[in-house]
Amino acid sequence: MLPDIDVVTRDDLMSLIMRNRLKPIKRLSQHFVVDPTIIRDIVNHIPRGSKVLEVGTGIGILTYYLARVASQVITIEIDGRLVRIAEHVLSGLNNVSIIQGDALRVPWPQVDALVSNVPYSITSPLIMRIIKEGVPRALLTIQREVANRLTGEPGSDDYGRLSVITQCNYSVSILNTYAPDSFYPSPEVYSSLIMMSKKEPCYDDMDALESVTKLLFRHRNRVLRWVLNKYLGPSAVNAVVNAGIDVSARVRQLGINELIKITGSLKPFINDIRSH
Ligand code: SAM
Repeated sequence: MLPDIDVVTRDDLMSLIMRNRLKPIKRLSQHFVVDPTIIRDIVNHIPRGSKVLEVGTGIGILTYYLARVASQVITIEIDGRLVRIAEHVLSGLNNVSIIQGDALRVPWPQVDALVSNVPYSITSPLIMRIIKEGVPRALLTIQREVANRLTGEPGSDDYGRLSVITQCNYSVSILNTYAPDSFYPSPEVYSSLIMMSKKEPCYDDMDALESVTKLLFRHRNRVLRWVLNKYLGPSAVNAVVNAGIDVSARVRQLGINELIKITGSLKPFINDIRSH
């Protein structure tokens, strides 16, 4: 049993990890949380009694504290060695189920919140799946640079396709940022905790918006006219001009509302767009 959330220390968490003589696998982004602040920051944003899905159980440290506030925790871990350790760490709790598998492939239950100290190697596909599944709330510790991309404003260096698709479906905020030694072994990067809260989607044809932004953001520093001409020809440029869009703007300057208008005007070209 681990100490209470208010009193647990870095040494408590480190000694649990050491006792299990782990050989972390780099390819699976195995960095285990040792900074109790991260756990407290996450748990404080989980309403009592919620049903929670966790991605990447590790040895079950975060899972343990989630289970103290949630009514139920379903947690997915790909590495069978860690599942066996986590089963031991979590053995006194009757509201936790561990699924051994790839969180990008196994079916997800309906939950109130998804929580993850995200294995960095699956960050983008995990976020895309959260959006597709319409998870109501997600609390994710991710690489700081990716957090900046998710919250990036039009025109900034961080703004891109991931910003558009995420902000179209979720309000995203950065809650805190942590030094590399908050995890053992330490990753090479800082991590940020973000909260994603589902909102009414900004557009009703997400597939089309995804396809159009995928094409345009291949050339984020080019002007829109150049990109449209390169892939779709002058009739697409005309269609976008007729929708009231300034085609001399650079792709990275286009706000979500402009991208929605562009997507609407490019509907006749959608098969062509998807074939590129
Ligand atoms: N939650 C634990 C913690 O905070 O200490 C572990 C976090 S560690 C950054 C990420 C965990 O995700 C590792 O245990 C790793 O084995 C697991 N993992 C990596 N890829 C996965 C995948 N596709 N599906 C499920 N788990 C995965």
